[in-house]
Amino acid sequence: MQKNIMAEEQQGHKIARIYVDRDKCIGAASCVAIAPGVFELDDENKAVVKDEQGADDETILLAAQSCPTQAIVLFDSAGNQIFP
Ligand code: SF4
Repeated sequence: MQKNIMAEEQQGHKIARIYVDRDKCIGAASCVAIAPGVFELDDENKAVVKDEQGADDETILLAAQSCPTQAIVLFDSAGNQIFP
């Protein structure tokens, strides 16, 4: 499953949009630990995207995969959901 995502990425499916589902986010902050240039916690302890270009695609994907509640959703430039 994860290998397929990586393979798709290598075929040019770039991450174009990052969405955080605030209802799912539990503030575990693993996304922030992995991609501090992209995610930060707001004052409600929910992750927000501060810079979609703040890390490379691989790092952003790792951050999304690290989320215990799969609150991070990734889309390519055609609007297709590429994770989870
Ligand atoms: S890893 Fe998931 S639950 Fe934790 S802060 Fe990031 S989005 Fe929220």
